[in-house]
Amino acid sequence: MSFSNVVRQGYLNEIEGIKAAGLFKEERYIHSPQSAEIEVEFPVGSAIRRCINICSNNYLGLSSHPDVVAAAHAGLEGRGYGMSSVRFICGTQDIHRELEKRLSDFLGTEDTLLFPSCMDANAGFFEACLNEQDVMIADRLVHASIVDGMRLCKAMQDTYKHSDMGHLEEKLQEHQDKRFRMVITDGVFSMDGDTAKLAEIVALAEKYNAMVFVDDSHATGFIGKTGRGTHEHCGVFGKIDVITTTLGKALGGASGGCVSGRRELVEMCRQRARPYLFSNAVAPVIVAGALKVLDLISTTTERRDKLEWNARYWRGLLKQAGFDLKEGDTPIVPVMLYDAKLAQDFARDLFDEGVYAVGFFFPVVPKGQARIRTQLSAAHEKHHLDSAIEAFRKVGQKHGILGLGKKELLARCAA
Ligand SMILES: *Cc1c(COP(=O)(O)O)cnc(C)c1O
Repeated sequence: MSFSNVVRQGYLNEIEGIKAAGLFKEERYIHSPQSAEIEVEFPVGSAIRRCINICSNNYLGLSSHPDVVAAAHAGLEGRGYGMSSVRFICGTQDIHRELEKRLSDFLGTEDTLLFPSCMDANAGFFEACLNEQDVMIADRLVHASIVDGMRLCKAMQDTYKHSDMGHLEEKLQEHQDKRFRMVITDGVFSMDGDTAKLAEIVALAEKYNAMVFVDDSHATGFIGKTGRGTHEHCGVFGKIDVITTTLGKALGGASGGCVSGRRELVEMCRQRARPYLFSNAVAPVIVAGALKVLDLISTTTERRDKLEWNARYWRGLLKQAGFDLKEGDTPIVPVMLYDAKLAQDFARDLFDEGVYAVGFFFPVVPKGQARIRTQLSAAHEKHHLDSAIEAFRKVGQKHGILGLGKKELLARCAA
């Protein structure tokens, strides 16, 4: 059967269902490099407008940094555009290995293996390192890519309530009969911006003989005093068995990810992880750019310090204006609205006021937990945040939500 009208109608019905539920996602076209201010075409076909971007993962403002761009140019000239091969056939240049060594130094690990993305690192890691004799015990709010990676692995899957250490301990006790136990968490949780209790997790893992896996995509480069990540922040640097992270956020924001940790686990990935074996090597231009990023962030903490200041300042402004925030101290500051449609309308109105932020709703966050996730960047200057808060205030007023707490906001969306 080809793509018949019946098949087509089936999909159209599903798409209509997504729209009717207020969950339809639209792209916005950006006509400038990634930065604190960007030029956006939205809706598609309308005039391009300059606005403040407060929703990117460009935490350190390095996505368009002139030194990074120059290093990428040099990499392009010296090593070409692409590898046209996976790593183990003819896709590994000396600079791939150099970047892996530099990432190990930065993260405080024994070895590192690059992947096309962190999604791929998470998709490949578990299956490569665990089998049916083992158990994976994951925080219930881990990133979707970890959920998918666990699905591909034959080890038993279990979860513990978000950051609930009592529950984790019960699970560790319950699974003492397994060959290996692995506790799995995000370092900083991407949707709520809270930090995993890594010191307690490491202590429990030691007590119950388990390995610890941390996805530090929303932390590498800026969390912790020197930006090494959540393990530095929590005082357990050097004690995490596996860290996965991305080059696609703070570290220049192009693409690429890695598995970093115990030498033997990394070796298992080099031998068996399918996205490593069957997907193309990270492009030389990205490797060259990432090496420059590591230079920049290893020599000074200026950028992460500025980011920390920006995050604290922005949180204060939102609170003062009367928004309902998720508590935390990371550069992820979720403004809670709970209702999916309100989140979308709010984002559209913000855009009219010159601020680019998007509404997050199911399935990206649980149903009834819709929000505007704001994210700070070292590229933001104080004046950007002072302008952005005016827009938030105005739109908040329009929707009559300033000063409302969680209960009142929830009551409104039921009505
Ligand atoms: C963004 C993100 C990823 C995916 O990273 P990519 O390199 O873009 O594939 C994986 N895990 C977490 C926690 C993330 O936030």
